[in-house]
Amino acid sequence: MDFKPSPEVESLRERIEAFMDEHVYPVEAEAIRAIDDEVKPGVPYPQIVVEIRARAKEQGLWNLFLPDGEYGAGLTNWEYGMLCEQMGRSPVIAPMAFNCSAPDTGNMEILVDHGTDEQKQRFLQPLLDGEIRSCFSMTEPEVSGSDPTTLQTRAELQDGEWVINGHKWFTSGANGADFAIAMVVTDPDAPPYTRASMILVPVDTPGFELIRNVSVMGHDEGPGHCEIRYEDCRVPASNLLGPRQAGFVIAQDRLGPGRIHHCMRAIGTCERAIEMMCRRANERETHGGKLAEKQFIQDFIARSRMETDQARLLTLLAAWKMDTAGKRAARQEISMIKVVAANVVMDVLDRAIQVHGALGMSDDTPLAGMWRFSRMLKVADGPDEVHKMVIARRELNRAAKRAQGEAGQPEQQPAEVTG
Ligand SMILES: Cc1cc2nc3c(=O)[nH]c(=O)nc-3n(C[C@H](O)[C@H](O)[C@H](O)COP(=O)(O)OP(=O)(O)OC[C@H]3O[C@@H](n4cnc5c(N)ncnc54)[C@H](O)[C@@H]3O)c2cc1C
Repeated sequence: MDFKPSPEVESLRERIEAFMDEHVYPVEAEAIRAIDDEVKPGVPYPQIVVEIRARAKEQGLWNLFLPDGEYGAGLTNWEYGMLCEQMGRSPVIAPMAFNCSAPDTGNMEILVDHGTDEQKQRFLQPLLDGEIRSCFSMTEPEVSGSDPTTLQTRAELQDGEWVINGHKWFTSGANGADFAIAMVVTDPDAPPYTRASMILVPVDTPGFELIRNVSVMGHDEGPGHCEIRYEDCRVPASNLLGPRQAGFVIAQDRLGPGRIHHCMRAIGTCERAIEMMCRRANERETHGGKLAEKQFIQDFIARSRMETDQARLLTLLAAWKMDTAGKRAARQEISMIKVVAANVVMDVLDRAIQVHGALGMSDDTPLAGMWRFSRMLKVADGPDEVHKMVIARRELNRAAKRAQGEAGQPEQQPAEVTG
């Protein structure tokens, strides 16, 4: 592998860095507060963020995530990953500034791949233009999100309309969003992985009831992680996204690139935390010397550097494999980076907070906010334990196949696994 970014990607990276120095870091705390205070139904972004986004769009730093050159920058996952690292240094504001934040990115990807012309015009174009936000509504409080074959929310076709009934939560960003992509059971009698479909639901549809922003680690403001009830919520049959019963296939498509993006942003968060940790260690004096001279602190810094670089290499490998051999071939690496990056970012942030003492626990630095924001990575998009389960299963299947081959047996097809 050649780790040198192309001149185009290097130039984009530098421009993003310069943009963040000038327009993001100086107002980061204020913009985060404004998101909490101003976002509400009909208001997707607060004014300060609207202004940052307008500048980014003007400079062409916009929709960088889409590998399809017709709609986005046409970068590979590997190339875009490099840019995500830069954006992850300010994980709430920077992706929003460049119209590159989840869940809009994943929703745009599946609309590009599966949307009809009409759906693209109504739902995709305003997202690409940055006029609206969207959300993805899959997880339900009553059943295990780790095993979406247990989903209960139903959609039934009646008189040319889908009638949706069910209960979702952790529909991130629903407050202030224009529409949801809901994953619902349309064919309850089909085999487990073909029961569900994706349906586009504008949030102003009668029966789409936003109950609350679930409070997450003491935070329930802004776009939120919302609890939603669908009660006889009717949308036209033409709001089906992709083929009927293809919910799982589309969800899986959405997750591969999304995980690379999350992981590379987490690595960017690590880089900022390491920088802050070193700056503090070089400045703060205690017990007759700088913190930087204490071996415990040096251990924090050395481990953080080693782990971050390991995580980056593994993530770039996963992205490269996805680009060169396809999403399916890269499944093992994608599961691995999901676990590795989520744990490394928590460890690095924890050490950076520790080195800052009480200041690290306060919201006077971005560290505590980044810790709260990053903790979800160990749970969302598949908890660590589920990814480890599928990583181990693939290894076991491979070993079983090898053993059968050696014994001259016909090769056994490995059991299908999810993740
Ligand atoms: C901040 C945040 C944002 C989110 N945003 C969205 C969103 O926008 N849209 C959406 O639809 N969902 C979203 N989610 C939900 C997320 O996808 C689910 O939380 C996740 O899939 C886990 O499902 P669950 O919460 O039901 O946990 P469960 O499935 O009940 O699992 C609980 C725990 O059980 C353990 N476990 C589960 N399976 C196994 C196993 N096979 N072996 C061993 N241990 C296991 C794990 O430790 C796991 O954490 C979000 C979650 C968070 C925290």
